[in-house]
Amino acid sequence: MAPIRTLEKEVVIIGAGTAGMSAHRAALAHTQDVLVIESGAYGTTCARVGCMPSKLMIAAADAAHGVRKAPAFGVEARELHIDGQAVMQRIRAERDRFTGFAIEAVAEWPKAHRLQGHARFLGPHTLQVDEHTRIEAQRIVIATGSRSRVPPAWRQALGDRLLVNDDVFDWQDLPDSVAVVGAGAIGLELAQALHRLGVRVRVFGKGGKVGPLTDPELAGRSRGIFEQAMPLSAKAEDLDLRREGDVVVVTWKENGATHTERFAWLLAATGRQANVDQLDLQHAGLPLDDKGQPVFEPCTARIGDSHVFIAGDANADRPLLHEAAAEGRIAGDNAGRYPDVRVHPRTTPLSIVFTDPQIAMVGQSHKRLTEAGKPFATGSVSFEDQGRSRVRLVNQGALQLYAEHGSGLLLGAEMVGPEAEHLAHLLAWSVQRGDTVADLLAMPYYHPVIEEGVRTAARELRRALHMGPEPVKRCIDCGPGA
Ligand SMILES: Cc1cc2nc3c(=O)[nH]c(=O)nc-3n(C[C@H](O)[C@H](O)[C@H](O)COP(=O)(O)OP(=O)(O)OC[C@H]3O[C@@H](n4cnc5c(N)ncnc54)[C@H](O)[C@@H]3O)c2cc1C
Repeated sequence: MAPIRTLEKEVVIIGAGTAGMSAHRAALAHTQDVLVIESGAYGTTCARVGCMPSKLMIAAADAAHGVRKAPAFGVEARELHIDGQAVMQRIRAERDRFTGFAIEAVAEWPKAHRLQGHARFLGPHTLQVDEHTRIEAQRIVIATGSRSRVPPAWRQALGDRLLVNDDVFDWQDLPDSVAVVGAGAIGLELAQALHRLGVRVRVFGKGGKVGPLTDPELAGRSRGIFEQAMPLSAKAEDLDLRREGDVVVVTWKENGATHTERFAWLLAATGRQANVDQLDLQHAGLPLDDKGQPVFEPCTARIGDSHVFIAGDANADRPLLHEAAAEGRIAGDNAGRYPDVRVHPRTTPLSIVFTDPQIAMVGQSHKRLTEAGKPFATGSVSFEDQGRSRVRLVNQGALQLYAEHGSGLLLGAEMVGPEAEHLAHLLAWSVQRGDTVADLLAMPYYHPVIEEGVRTAARELRRALHMGPEPVKRCIDCGPGA
């Protein structure tokens, strides 16, 4: 066996995903003595198996949906034909292009900054990488990401018929049928895309929850919308999975009846597990919570009062790409400048699910506001009758805006509706700027646009706060349908 190499490093980053790459860049402002350890393939989860390939699949699904929907506008398209191989070919090719950018970026780093292998702690400052290298690190950034969480019994029962998102984007062709277990963001996005691409799907949810919305009025609406959009068993109970040859047999109870359906594959979208459980954290001397997650401060990324920082999905806090990048910058900067650890303000929470209609959450959620016992008011708009949404036949869903009583300060928003990705950005920027409802209403609104719905919700909100008049119904000075 080859002897173990020993290294001494100032800053060591575990994981070369989005958080690790941005931590690397930030640490370089303080020291060149940086090493990034990566156990898997370079290219990042976002580009290889996450944000980008899922959005590529959704884009293909949107194209198919547009053709199906065309007759509603009096436009007859010829018979829809979906070439599964061509769909997957484009997804893989574009995915490889995005992945290539991340791989190129790492290849440009000095060789001394990269090491391949699985890192684990031997002591607070000591890391072992596979069986080949031992490192003494002054400071460490944990940026190890997350992986799909799959009940082990399902693997035993289904073997290679069980898929996670990582597997989907390597398909050469679209499959015949897929059972999607999990009605969260990943499950809904992939299931709806596959459904629109002609794959027979059924989504299995738990307890009736569909998507991340916490506002009871919107959560109910969202469930209704997606139940209509695709086969969805939101309250599947006693889910039983077995394999018969190459067929996955799913049996479940719903509304008192037992159902059985057969699928070619089962896609588990049952949540993500932070990759901190294979780091031997028990040797690191770090404070851990009851789930074994390091206890850290989000504005410094520092774990306890230690020399170890954590960023990205690994901290199980805000498992989103822009947050991973931001946390990587914070962790890298603070690991580089340690012990002069600095506080970096965080941006307003913003999350988007790319279903149709899209789902988005901004600032403080309804659940958080309610739990905090804050006095807040709600203003809402339904998109069902909203002018531009009707014109485009995307008139589904609603938006709820929340603001503080007394000040009118915007606190947050939840929505399921058309162009939620754009409305959510406008609102997140407003919340972060510290806008009040009056500030939001003082902005220009073009006509006819979906943003006019935000104005309607803001007027309702102003009224609910007792800060303005009863909104005029069908106010024609705003333009028809605003
Ligand atoms: C299907 C899907 C769709 C998504 N869509 C979106 C979206 O639309 N928008 C959005 O904002 N977010 C989305 N996300 C989430 C987003 O992809 C993640 O939040 C982000 O990629 C996390 O980046 P990261 O740097 O924390 O982890 P990663 O990019 O996963 O990097 C972690 C790296 O650490 C390595 N590693 C792990 N353990 C070790 C070890 N012990 N030693 C050495 N290396 C190790 C891993 O191999 C990996 O390369 C999606 C995720 C999925 C799965």
